[in-house]
Amino acid sequence: MYILQIQEALAKAGYSPGSLDNLAGPQTQAAIKAFQTDHSLEADGMVGPLTHEALFQNTNPVPAQEDQLTSHFNRQEFKCCCEGRYCDGFPNEMNSDLLIKLEALRQTLNTPIIVTSGIRCPTRNQEVGGIGNSKHLTGHAVDCYAPGFSIYDLAEAAKTQGVGVILYEDEGFCHLEI
Ligand SMILES: [Zn+2]
Repeated sequence: MYILQIQEALAKAGYSPGSLDNLAGPQTQAAIKAFQTDHSLEADGMVGPLTHEALFQNTNPVPAQEDQLTSHFNRQEFKCCCEGRYCDGFPNEMNSDLLIKLEALRQTLNTPIIVTSGIRCPTRNQEVGGIGNSKHLTGHAVDCYAPGFSIYDLAEAAKTQGVGVILYEDEGFCHLEI
């Protein structure tokens, strides 16, 4: 999942990673290096925290001010991942207590926390195999990872904020919920 997001970000930024195949092949490596060179980063072909920040800052549209929920989180980051197929993106809003904890977590780790799934409409939830009463439906859960940190580090830090954690080791993200 993560390689694919990097490939998409590279493509949007004008660095062709070849086919969007979710594999870190030679073309993707070359695109990462070219991007790093152009952004005065060490051209090692690896997406560490600095490259990640440059890459995703570079391609994300400037978020609307009114959508800024905390110092580091914007409402759009939590939009339903059905891409508008089944809902307008916000069948619900994120729970403010969870947002406060996420912001605390973000500041503790001092690295961006990348949300892979926030709010979900019931149809999308079913599509991705979420349980019927998933906390994603009500904005009480978020799937995420922190570049530069293992999911185990992220899980430990989340637990100290009093957040419930489910590890998705194969997929490389944590499900956090309150
Ligand atoms: Zn939806």
